[in-house]
Amino acid sequence: MSFDDLGLGPETLRAVAEAGYTEPTPIQQQAIPYVLMGRDILGCAQTGTGKTASFTLPMIEILDAGRAKARMPRSLILTPTRELAAQIAGNFETYGKYHKLTKALIIGGESIVAQGQLLDRGVDVLIATPGRLIDHFQRGGVLLNDVKILVIDEADRMLDMGFIPDVERIVTFLPKIRQTLFFSATFPREIRRLADSFLMNPKEIHVTPKTSAAETVDHFLVRTAPAKKSDVLCDLLRGQSVKSALIFCNRKRDVDVLASSLRRHKFCVGALHGDMAQPARTAMLESFKNGDINLLVATDVAGRGLDIVGLSHVFNFDVPTHAEDYVHRIGRTGRAGLRGCAITLATGEERKYVAAITRLIGQDIPGLDGAASGDDAHDAEPSEGKQTAVTTEPEAKRPRANARPRTRRERRPRTQARDTAKDKPKAANGAPPQPQAAKQEHARSKGGRSQGRAGAKQVVAFGDNMPAFLRQPASKTTS
Ligand code: AMP
Repeated sequence: MSFDDLGLGPETLRAVAEAGYTEPTPIQQQAIPYVLMGRDILGCAQTGTGKTASFTLPMIEILDAGRAKARMPRSLILTPTRELAAQIAGNFETYGKYHKLTKALIIGGESIVAQGQLLDRGVDVLIATPGRLIDHFQRGGVLLNDVKILVIDEADRMLDMGFIPDVERIVTFLPKIRQTLFFSATFPREIRRLADSFLMNPKEIHVTPKTSAAETVDHFLVRTAPAKKSDVLCDLLRGQSVKSALIFCNRKRDVDVLASSLRRHKFCVGALHGDMAQPARTAMLESFKNGDINLLVATDVAGRGLDIVGLSHVFNFDVPTHAEDYVHRIGRTGRAGLRGCAITLATGEERKYVAAITRLIGQDIPGLDGAASGDDAHDAEPSEGKQTAVTTEPEAKRPRANARPRTRRERRPRTQARDTAKDKPKAANGAPPQPQAAKQEHARSKGGRSQGRAGAKQVVAFGDNMPAFLRQPASKTTS
Protein backbone atom coordinates (compact mmCIF):
# COMPACT_ATOMS: atom_id res chain seq x y z
CA MET A 1 0.00 0.00 0.00
CA SER A 2 1.20 3.53 -0.71
CA PHE A 3 0.40 6.84 1.01
CA ASP A 4 -1.56 7.81 -2.12
CA ASP A 5 -4.21 5.20 -1.23
CA LEU A 6 -5.05 6.64 2.19
CA GLY A 7 -7.12 9.67 1.20
CA LEU A 8 -4.55 12.33 2.12
CA GLY A 9 -4.33 15.56 0.11
CA PRO A 10 -1.48 16.51 -2.26
CA GLU A 11 0.22 18.96 0.16
CA THR A 12 0.33 16.39 2.91
CA LEU A 13 1.59 13.73 0.50
CA ARG A 14 4.32 16.07 -0.61
CA ALA A 15 5.42 16.73 2.97
CA VAL A 16 5.37 12.99 3.71
CA ALA A 17 7.50 12.27 0.65
CA GLU A 18 9.95 14.98 1.68
CA ALA A 19 10.15 13.36 5.14
CA GLY A 20 11.48 10.33 3.27
CA TYR A 21 8.58 7.96 3.93
CA THR A 22 7.76 5.71 1.02
CA GLU A 23 5.22 3.38 2.59
CA PRO A 24 2.74 3.83 5.43
CA THR A 25 3.37 1.73 8.52
CA PRO A 26 0.63 -0.75 9.53
CA ILE A 27 -0.95 1.63 12.04
CA GLN A 28 -0.96 4.41 9.46
CA GLN A 29 -2.56 2.11 6.89
CA GLN A 30 -5.28 1.13 9.30
CA ALA A 31 -5.91 4.38 11.16
CA ILE A 32 -5.64 7.17 8.59
CA PRO A 33 -8.70 6.26 6.45
CA TYR A 34 -10.87 5.89 9.57
CA VAL A 35 -9.70 9.14 11.12
CA LEU A 36 -10.47 10.90 7.83
CA MET A 37 -13.98 9.36 8.00
CA GLY A 38 -14.48 10.94 11.40
CA ARG A 39 -14.44 7.68 13.37
CA ASP A 40 -13.12 7.34 16.92
CA ILE A 41 -9.97 5.23 17.17
CA LEU A 42 -8.79 2.92 19.88
CA GLY A 43 -5.16 2.30 18.97
CA CYS A 44 -3.03 -0.29 20.71
CA ALA A 45 0.40 0.69 19.50
CA GLN A 46 3.77 1.19 21.03
CA THR A 47 6.09 4.03 20.12
CA GLY A 48 8.25 3.34 17.11
CA THR A 49 5.33 2.08 15.03
CA GLY A 50 4.63 5.41 13.36
CA LYS A 51 1.55 6.07 15.48
CA THR A 52 2.17 9.82 15.73
CA ALA A 53 1.81 10.27 11.97
CA SER A 54 -1.23 8.01 12.06
CA PHE A 55 -3.13 10.80 13.80
CA THR A 56 -1.22 13.96 12.81
CA LEU A 57 -1.52 13.34 9.04
CA PRO A 58 -5.32 13.01 8.91
CA MET A 59 -5.74 15.78 11.50
CA ILE A 60 -3.89 18.16 9.20
CA GLU A 61 -6.36 17.29 6.44
CA ILE A 62 -9.43 17.68 8.64
CA LEU A 63 -8.32 20.93 10.28
CA ASP A 64 -7.29 22.48 6.98
CA ALA A 65 -10.93 23.47 6.46
CA GLY A 66 -11.80 26.14 9.02
CA ARG A 67 -9.98 28.52 11.33
CA ALA A 68 -9.65 28.84 15.09
CA LYS A 69 -11.12 31.57 17.27
CA ALA A 70 -9.19 33.26 20.05
CA ARG A 71 -8.65 30.97 23.06
CA MET A 72 -10.74 28.27 21.44
CA PRO A 73 -8.51 25.52 20.04
CA ARG A 74 -10.08 23.25 17.42
CA SER A 75 -8.20 20.15 18.44
CA LEU A 76 -6.50 18.98 21.60
CA ILE A 77 -3.71 16.44 22.01
CA LEU A 78 -3.00 15.33 25.57
CA THR A 79 0.36 13.71 26.27
CA PRO A 80 1.99 12.55 29.49
CA THR A 81 5.36 14.23 28.99
CA ARG A 82 6.72 17.48 27.71
CA GLU A 83 9.14 15.67 25.43
CA LEU A 84 6.38 13.73 23.76
CA ALA A 85 4.36 16.92 23.38
CA ALA A 86 7.34 18.65 21.77
CA GLN A 87 7.82 15.71 19.46
CA ILE A 88 4.22 15.76 18.32
CA ALA A 89 4.54 19.50 17.68
CA GLY A 90 7.60 18.69 15.56
CA ASN A 91 5.51 16.20 13.57
CA PHE A 92 2.93 18.89 12.83
CA GLU A 93 5.74 21.14 11.61
CA THR A 94 7.12 18.44 9.32
CA TYR A 95 3.89 17.11 7.88
CA GLY A 96 1.99 20.41 7.95
CA LYS A 97 4.60 22.54 6.23
CA TYR A 98 2.35 23.15 3.21
CA HIS A 99 -0.67 24.04 5.37
CA LYS A 100 -1.29 27.13 7.41
CA LEU A 101 -2.32 25.55 10.68
CA THR A 102 -1.50 27.26 13.94
CA LYS A 103 -0.48 25.32 17.01
CA ALA A 104 0.49 25.84 20.63
CA LEU A 105 2.53 23.72 22.94
CA ILE A 106 1.21 24.04 26.48
CA ILE A 107 3.63 22.27 28.77
CA GLY A 108 4.95 22.81 32.27
CA GLY A 109 8.29 24.47 32.89
CA GLU A 110 7.84 27.20 30.30
CA SER A 111 6.41 30.72 30.46
CA ILE A 112 2.69 30.57 31.11
CA VAL A 113 2.36 34.17 29.89
CA ALA A 114 3.89 33.43 26.48
CA GLN A 115 1.66 30.37 26.20
CA GLY A 116 -1.38 32.50 27.07
CA GLN A 117 -0.50 34.95 24.30
CA LEU A 118 -0.36 32.10 21.80
CA LEU A 119 -3.77 30.85 22.91
CA ASP A 120 -5.17 34.38 22.64
CA ARG A 121 -4.35 34.36 18.94
CA GLY A 122 -6.33 31.17 18.40
CA VAL A 123 -4.82 27.78 17.58
CA ASP A 124 -5.90 24.92 15.38
CA VAL A 125 -3.87 22.37 17.29
CA LEU A 126 -3.27 22.50 21.03
CA ILE A 127 -0.71 20.01 22.31
CA ALA A 128 -0.65 19.89 26.08
CA THR A 129 0.33 18.07 29.22
CA PRO A 130 -2.69 17.81 31.55
CA GLY A 131 -1.47 19.87 34.53
CA ARG A 132 -0.49 22.95 32.56
CA LEU A 133 -3.66 22.82 30.50
CA ILE A 134 -5.75 22.87 33.67
CA ASP A 135 -3.74 25.88 34.90
CA HIS A 136 -4.65 27.79 31.73
CA PHE A 137 -8.26 26.67 31.92
CA GLN A 138 -8.60 27.84 35.50
CA ARG A 139 -7.16 31.24 34.57
CA GLY A 140 -9.71 31.52 31.79
CA GLY A 141 -6.94 31.49 29.20
CA VAL A 142 -8.45 28.66 27.19
CA LEU A 143 -11.96 27.42 26.39
CA LEU A 144 -12.35 23.88 25.23
CA ASN A 145 -15.90 23.88 23.90
CA ASP A 146 -14.81 24.23 20.29
CA VAL A 147 -12.55 21.15 20.31
CA LYS A 148 -13.58 18.87 17.46
CA ILE A 149 -10.80 16.30 17.77
CA LEU A 150 -9.34 14.99 21.00
CA VAL A 151 -6.22 12.82 20.99
CA ILE A 152 -5.10 11.02 24.13
CA ASP A 153 -1.62 9.69 23.53
CA GLU A 154 0.17 7.13 25.69
CA ALA A 155 -2.79 6.72 28.01
CA ASP A 156 -1.08 3.98 30.00
CA ARG A 157 1.76 6.35 30.78
CA MET A 158 -0.78 8.94 31.95
CA LEU A 159 -2.08 6.29 34.31
CA ASP A 160 1.41 5.53 35.64
CA MET A 161 2.05 9.20 36.21
CA GLY A 162 -1.20 9.77 38.06
CA PHE A 163 -2.69 12.04 35.38
CA ILE A 164 -5.92 10.15 34.84
CA PRO A 165 -8.02 12.34 37.20
CA ASP A 166 -6.74 15.43 35.35
CA VAL A 167 -7.53 13.84 31.98
CA GLU A 168 -11.05 12.93 33.10
CA ARG A 169 -11.56 16.46 34.34
CA ILE A 170 -10.35 17.99 31.08
CA VAL A 171 -12.67 15.75 29.08
CA THR A 172 -15.65 17.16 31.00
CA PHE A 173 -14.78 20.59 29.55
CA LEU A 174 -15.01 19.27 25.98
CA PRO A 175 -18.09 18.98 23.78
CA LYS A 176 -19.76 15.58 23.95
CA ILE A 177 -19.89 15.41 20.18
CA ARG A 178 -16.32 15.20 19.01
CA GLN A 179 -13.89 12.74 17.45
CA THR A 180 -11.62 10.98 19.93
CA LEU A 181 -8.40 9.14 19.10
CA PHE A 182 -7.11 7.13 22.01
CA PHE A 183 -3.67 5.47 21.97
CA SER A 184 -2.03 3.27 24.52
CA ALA A 185 0.71 0.67 24.36
CA THR A 186 -1.00 -1.46 26.99
CA PHE A 187 -4.58 -1.82 28.17
CA PRO A 188 -4.79 -2.49 31.89
CA ARG A 189 -8.35 -2.46 33.26
CA GLU A 190 -8.28 1.23 34.20
CA ILE A 191 -7.26 2.22 30.67
CA ARG A 192 -9.96 0.04 29.17
CA ARG A 193 -12.51 1.75 31.45
CA LEU A 194 -11.29 5.15 30.37
CA ALA A 195 -11.41 4.21 26.70
CA ASP A 196 -14.98 2.92 27.11
CA SER A 197 -16.08 6.18 28.68
CA PHE A 198 -14.35 8.49 26.17
CA LEU A 199 -14.94 6.71 22.87
CA MET A 200 -18.03 6.16 20.75
CA ASN A 201 -18.07 3.06 18.57
CA PRO A 202 -14.32 3.22 18.00
CA LYS A 203 -12.38 1.45 15.29
CA GLU A 204 -9.99 -0.76 17.22
CA ILE A 205 -6.50 -1.11 15.83
CA HIS A 206 -3.84 -3.40 17.23
CA VAL A 207 -0.62 -3.12 15.33
CA THR A 208 1.57 -5.41 17.37
CA PRO A 209 0.86 -7.89 20.11
CA LYS A 210 0.38 -5.40 22.86
CA THR A 211 3.46 -6.26 24.85
CA SER A 212 5.95 -7.57 22.35
CA ALA A 213 9.48 -6.28 22.14
CA ALA A 214 10.23 -4.60 18.81
CA GLU A 215 11.60 -7.20 16.41
CA THR A 216 14.28 -4.87 15.17
CA VAL A 217 15.96 -4.79 18.58
CA ASP A 218 18.50 -7.40 19.76
CA HIS A 219 18.26 -7.47 23.50
CA PHE A 220 20.53 -8.96 26.13
CA LEU A 221 20.81 -9.35 29.86
CA VAL A 222 23.94 -8.92 31.97
CA ARG A 223 23.79 -10.09 35.55
CA THR A 224 25.89 -8.05 37.91
CA ALA A 225 26.25 -6.97 41.50
CA PRO A 226 24.90 -3.55 42.51
CA ALA A 227 28.32 -2.16 43.34
CA LYS A 228 29.68 -3.24 39.97
CA LYS A 229 26.99 -1.76 37.77
CA SER A 230 28.86 1.39 36.82
CA ASP A 231 32.02 -0.54 35.93
CA VAL A 232 30.04 -3.04 33.87
CA LEU A 233 28.29 -0.23 32.05
CA CYS A 234 31.60 1.50 31.29
CA ASP A 235 32.97 -1.78 29.93
CA LEU A 236 29.95 -2.22 27.72
CA LEU A 237 30.09 1.34 26.47
CA ARG A 238 33.73 0.91 25.58
CA GLY A 239 33.41 -2.60 24.20
CA GLN A 240 30.47 -1.97 21.90
CA SER A 241 30.18 0.09 18.81
CA VAL A 242 27.94 2.58 20.57
CA LYS A 243 27.04 5.37 18.21
CA SER A 244 24.51 6.91 20.51
CA ALA A 245 22.72 5.46 23.50
CA LEU A 246 19.98 6.17 25.98
CA ILE A 247 20.77 4.86 29.45
CA PHE A 248 17.75 4.42 31.69
CA CYS A 249 17.73 4.70 35.47
CA ASN A 250 14.65 4.17 37.62
CA ARG A 251 15.20 7.19 39.88
CA LYS A 252 15.89 10.82 39.08
CA ARG A 253 18.68 11.14 41.62
CA ASP A 254 20.52 8.19 40.08
CA VAL A 255 20.42 9.87 36.67
CA ASP A 256 22.65 12.72 37.85
CA VAL A 257 24.94 10.42 39.81
CA LEU A 258 25.45 8.08 36.87
CA ALA A 259 25.92 10.91 34.37
CA SER A 260 28.62 12.46 36.58
CA SER A 261 30.33 9.11 36.96
CA LEU A 262 30.35 8.52 33.21
CA ARG A 263 31.64 12.02 32.65
CA ARG A 264 34.54 11.26 34.99
CA HIS A 265 35.25 8.26 32.78
CA LYS A 266 35.49 10.67 29.83
CA PHE A 267 32.23 9.75 28.16
CA CYS A 268 30.31 12.41 26.29
CA VAL A 269 27.16 12.26 28.37
CA GLY A 270 24.14 14.31 29.40
CA ALA A 271 21.26 13.80 31.82
CA LEU A 272 17.51 14.18 31.41
CA HIS A 273 14.90 13.96 34.15
CA GLY A 274 11.74 15.64 35.32
CA ASP A 275 13.39 17.85 37.95
CA MET A 276 15.27 19.80 35.30
CA ALA A 277 13.86 23.11 34.11
CA GLN A 278 12.29 22.87 30.68
CA PRO A 279 14.88 25.06 28.90
CA ALA A 280 17.63 22.81 30.28
CA ARG A 281 15.73 19.71 29.11
CA THR A 282 15.23 21.16 25.66
CA ALA A 283 18.90 22.18 25.39
CA MET A 284 20.01 18.72 26.55
CA LEU A 285 17.82 16.99 23.97
CA GLU A 286 19.16 19.29 21.29
CA SER A 287 22.76 18.42 22.24
CA PHE A 288 21.90 14.74 22.02
CA LYS A 289 20.07 15.06 18.73
CA ASN A 290 22.84 17.05 17.07
CA GLY A 291 25.57 14.74 18.39
CA ASP A 292 27.35 17.07 20.86
CA ILE A 293 26.83 14.28 23.35
CA ASN A 294 26.27 10.67 22.35
CA LEU A 295 25.05 9.26 25.65
CA LEU A 296 21.97 10.42 27.52
CA VAL A 297 21.07 9.13 30.97
CA ALA A 298 17.33 9.47 31.55
CA THR A 299 14.34 8.38 33.58
CA ASP A 300 11.36 6.67 31.96
CA VAL A 301 9.29 9.79 32.11
CA ALA A 302 11.86 11.94 30.37
CA GLY A 303 12.87 9.22 27.95
CA ARG A 304 9.36 8.17 26.99
CA GLY A 305 8.52 8.99 23.44
CA LEU A 306 11.97 10.31 22.64
CA ASP A 307 12.48 9.92 18.95
CA ILE A 308 16.20 10.02 18.26
CA VAL A 309 17.08 9.08 14.74
CA GLY A 310 19.54 6.19 14.51
CA LEU A 311 19.92 5.55 18.23
CA SER A 312 22.20 2.49 18.25
CA HIS A 313 21.81 1.31 21.86
CA VAL A 314 19.58 1.40 24.88
CA PHE A 315 21.01 0.41 28.26
CA ASN A 316 18.86 -0.33 31.25
CA PHE A 317 21.11 0.61 34.12
CA ASP A 318 18.19 -0.43 36.31
CA VAL A 319 15.67 -3.07 35.35
CA PRO A 320 12.35 -1.25 34.97
CA THR A 321 9.97 -2.06 37.80
CA HIS A 322 6.99 -1.94 35.44
CA ALA A 323 7.45 -4.61 32.80
CA GLU A 324 5.72 -2.46 30.15
CA ASP A 325 8.47 0.12 30.50
CA TYR A 326 10.95 -2.44 29.22
CA VAL A 327 9.11 -2.53 25.89
CA HIS A 328 9.01 1.26 25.74
CA ARG A 329 12.63 1.71 26.69
CA ILE A 330 14.09 -0.73 24.22
CA GLY A 331 11.70 0.60 21.58
CA ARG A 332 13.74 3.84 21.53
CA THR A 333 16.24 1.96 19.35
CA GLY A 334 15.65 -0.19 16.28
CA ARG A 335 13.31 2.42 14.83
CA ALA A 336 12.37 3.30 11.30
CA GLY A 337 13.78 0.12 9.77
CA LEU A 338 17.18 0.23 11.54
CA ARG A 339 18.42 -2.46 13.91
CA GLY A 340 19.16 -1.62 17.52
CA CYS A 341 20.69 -3.23 20.56
CA ALA A 342 19.34 -3.09 24.13
CA ILE A 343 21.30 -4.31 27.16
CA THR A 344 19.85 -4.64 30.63
CA LEU A 345 21.99 -4.81 33.76
CA ALA A 346 20.29 -6.86 36.44
CA THR A 347 21.23 -7.54 40.04
CA GLY A 348 19.88 -10.39 42.14
CA GLU A 349 17.48 -7.92 43.73
CA GLU A 350 16.05 -7.08 40.33
CA ARG A 351 15.48 -10.68 39.35
CA LYS A 352 11.76 -10.47 40.03
CA TYR A 353 11.45 -7.58 37.60
CA VAL A 354 13.31 -9.53 34.92
CA ALA A 355 10.91 -12.42 35.49
CA ALA A 356 7.93 -10.07 35.06
CA ILE A 357 9.39 -8.76 31.79
CA THR A 358 10.00 -12.20 30.33
CA ARG A 359 6.42 -13.15 31.26
CA LEU A 360 5.09 -10.01 29.62
CA ILE A 361 7.02 -10.24 26.38
CA GLY A 362 6.65 -14.00 26.24
CA GLN A 363 10.32 -14.65 25.67
CA ASP A 364 13.55 -14.89 27.59
CA ILE A 365 16.12 -12.16 27.34
CA PRO A 366 19.33 -13.84 26.20
CA GLY A 367 22.39 -13.39 28.38
CA LEU A 368 25.36 -11.86 26.66
CA ASP A 369 26.95 -15.32 26.68
CA GLY A 370 23.98 -16.63 24.73
CA ALA A 371 22.17 -18.22 27.68
CA ALA A 372 18.50 -17.40 27.99
CA SER A 373 17.48 -15.31 30.97
CA GLY A 374 15.37 -18.14 32.26
CA ASP A 375 18.17 -20.67 31.94
CA ASP A 376 20.91 -18.60 33.27
CA ALA A 377 18.87 -17.95 36.36
CA HIS A 378 20.24 -21.31 37.52
CA ASP A 379 23.78 -20.35 36.66
CA ALA A 380 23.31 -17.09 38.39
CA GLU A 381 22.16 -18.76 41.57
CA PRO A 382 25.55 -18.79 43.33
CA SER A 383 26.19 -15.17 42.46
CA GLU A 384 22.69 -14.25 43.50
CA GLY A 385 23.57 -15.62 46.90
CA LYS A 386 26.55 -13.30 46.99
CA GLN A 387 24.43 -10.43 45.81
CA THR A 388 22.13 -11.02 48.70
CA ALA A 389 25.19 -10.45 50.81
CA VAL A 390 25.69 -7.18 48.98
CA THR A 391 22.18 -6.08 49.72
CA THR A 392 22.92 -6.48 53.38
CA GLU A 393 25.82 -4.07 53.12
CA PRO A 394 23.96 -1.09 54.51
CA GLU A 395 23.43 -3.15 57.63
CA ALA A 396 27.07 -4.22 57.66
CA LYS A 397 28.07 -0.58 57.38
CA ARG A 398 26.31 0.27 60.62
CA PRO A 399 28.97 0.83 63.28
CA ARG A 400 29.50 -2.30 65.34
CA ALA A 401 31.69 -1.98 68.38
CA ASN A 402 34.01 -4.94 67.99
CA ALA A 403 33.35 -6.51 64.66
CA ARG A 404 35.19 -4.39 62.15
CA PRO A 405 38.25 -6.55 61.36
CA ARG A 406 36.19 -9.73 61.14
CA THR A 407 33.48 -8.22 58.98
CA ARG A 408 35.96 -6.96 56.45
CA ARG A 409 37.78 -10.28 56.26
CA GLU A 410 34.48 -12.04 55.83
CA ARG A 411 33.53 -9.76 53.02
CA ARG A 412 36.69 -10.46 51.05
CA PRO A 413 35.74 -13.82 49.51
CA ARG A 414 32.29 -12.46 48.73
CA THR A 415 33.83 -9.67 46.74
CA GLN A 416 35.88 -12.16 44.77
CA ALA A 417 32.85 -14.31 44.15
CA ARG A 418 30.88 -11.34 42.94
CA ASP A 419 33.65 -10.51 40.49
CA THR A 420 33.60 -14.07 39.26
CA ALA A 421 29.84 -14.01 38.88
CA LYS A 422 30.05 -10.77 37.00
CA ASP A 423 32.56 -12.27 34.60
CA LYS A 424 30.30 -15.16 33.71
CA PRO A 425 27.64 -13.55 31.56
CA LYS A 426 30.18 -11.41 29.86
CA ALA A 427 31.62 -13.96 27.48
CA ALA A 428 31.08 -12.92 23.89
CA ASN A 429 28.95 -15.07 21.62
CA GLY A 430 29.52 -13.42 18.32
CA ALA A 431 26.57 -11.10 18.89
CA PRO A 432 27.27 -7.39 18.58
CA PRO A 433 28.57 -7.07 22.14
CA GLN A 434 32.13 -8.09 23.03
CA PRO A 435 31.83 -7.88 26.77
CA GLN A 436 34.59 -10.32 27.72
CA ALA A 437 37.14 -8.35 25.78
CA ALA A 438 35.84 -5.22 27.39
CA LYS A 439 36.00 -6.87 30.78
CA GLN A 440 39.61 -7.90 30.24
CA GLU A 441 40.46 -4.45 29.06
CA HIS A 442 38.78 -3.04 32.13
CA ALA A 443 40.61 -5.49 34.39
CA ARG A 444 43.91 -4.42 32.81
CA SER A 445 43.07 -0.78 33.24
CA LYS A 446 42.28 -1.45 36.88
CA GLY A 447 45.76 -2.83 37.44
CA GLY A 448 44.93 -6.52 37.26
CA ARG A 449 42.25 -6.74 39.92
CA SER A 450 40.99 -10.00 38.51
CA GLN A 451 44.32 -11.70 38.02
CA GLY A 452 43.42 -14.84 39.94
CA ARG A 453 42.75 -15.87 43.47
CA ALA A 454 46.22 -15.50 44.93
CA GLY A 455 46.70 -12.06 43.51
CA ALA A 456 43.19 -11.09 44.43
CA LYS A 457 43.74 -12.16 48.01
CA GLN A 458 46.63 -9.78 48.29
CA VAL A 459 45.08 -6.73 46.71
CA VAL A 460 41.31 -6.94 46.40
CA ALA A 461 40.26 -6.42 49.96
CA PHE A 462 41.86 -3.09 50.73
CA GLY A 463 44.01 -1.91 47.86
CA ASP A 464 45.75 1.25 48.95
CA ASN A 465 43.11 1.91 51.52
CA MET A 466 43.96 -0.50 54.31
CA PRO A 467 42.75 1.14 57.49
CA ALA A 468 45.50 2.12 59.88
CA PHE A 469 44.07 0.13 62.75
CA LEU A 470 44.50 -3.11 60.81
CA ARG A 471 48.21 -2.50 60.43
CA GLN A 472 48.58 -2.36 64.23
CA PRO A 473 49.12 -5.47 66.36
CA ALA A 474 45.88 -7.24 67.18
CA SER A 475 46.29 -6.87 70.92
CA LYS A 476 46.08 -3.10 70.64
CA THR A 477 42.87 -3.09 68.65
CA THR A 478 40.75 -5.77 70.21
CA SER A 479 40.71 -4.60 73.78
P1 AMP B 1 6.35 7.09 16.27
O1 AMP B 1 5.91 5.68 16.53
O2 AMP B 1 5.24 7.96 15.88
O3 AMP B 1 7.12 7.63 17.45
O4 AMP B 1 7.35 7.07 15.01
C1 AMP B 1 8.55 6.36 15.01
C2 AMP B 1 9.51 6.82 13.92
O5 AMP B 1 9.08 6.33 12.66
C3 AMP B 1 9.65 8.30 13.77
O6 AMP B 1 11.03 8.57 13.63
C4 AMP B 1 8.96 8.65 12.49
O7 AMP B 1 9.55 9.75 11.85
C5 AMP B 1 9.15 7.38 11.70
N1 AMP B 1 8.08 7.12 10.73
C6 AMP B 1 6.77 7.36 10.87
N2 AMP B 1 6.09 6.95 9.79
C7 AMP B 1 6.99 6.41 8.95
C8 AMP B 1 6.90 5.79 7.66
N3 AMP B 1 5.75 5.64 7.05
N4 AMP B 1 8.05 5.36 7.08
C9 AMP B 1 9.22 5.50 7.72
N5 AMP B 1 9.37 6.07 8.93
C10 AMP B 1 8.27 6.51 9.54
